Amino acid sequence: MNAKILIVEDEPAIQELLAFNVMQAGFQAMRAEDADSAWQQIRGSAPDMILLDWMLPNTSGVILAKQFRADVRTRDIPIIMLTARGDERDKILGLESGADDYITKPFSPRELMARIRAVLRRHIPVMPDVTVAAEGLELSPSSHRVTANGRAVELGPTEFRLLHFFMTHPERVYSRTQLLDQVWGTQVFVEERTVDVHIRRLRAALEPVKMNRVIQTVRGSGYRFSTSYN
Ligand code: CA
Repeated sequence: MNAKILIVEDEPAIQELLAFNVMQAGFQAMRAEDADSAWQQIRGSAPDMILLDWMLPNTSGVILAKQFRADVRTRDIPIIMLTARGDERDKILGLESGADDYITKPFSPRELMARIRAVLRRHIPVMPDVTVAAEGLELSPSSHRVTANGRAVELGPTEFRLLHFFMTHPERVYSRTQLLDQVWGTQVFVEERTVDVHIRRLRAALEPVKMNRVIQTVRGSGYRFSTSYN
């Protein structure tokens, strides 16, 4: 495994520390100090993951994460947001901008590497390559495409995995903890509220094709995928 990790960090000392740890762990490090140089790096070679600092000159990490999610070249690349802020609202804002995980500075190299590995692991296609379909909704693991009655649905990598899990386990209620175990993996440090953020993103992506109702909230229990609405 020799994944390429793009580090977007403007403080030279922290960029150096991140690159050192990434390379120590056997990954390749690509470096950028702002949005422009990040795009330049990506044009040269697509990374397998992006470590993105929240506070960057000119374009902030949050804006840049949104740009990555909107661009066909980068929309499937997992993002871990780095930040000095530990505030709960900022955490949610970071995730809503398109990040897959979040780490607060100062962090220990061990925690950072554990999170990098966890995020990479859940983006490695372990799902069986069988197209799943329900009510006009079709998900293909091999092409990483989702369509609803032939119309493309744009999903981030975590939402894709979440929808795949739901479609292969329909009509059953899953708690947030169960979803974290099944979709995020047990090695991950994410909080239960993260599930709600990704459910919101999944519903928002399904809304234009009028399929958002398949993701149902079961009050007090969790979420369910169902094609029968009441
Ligand atoms: Ca910074």
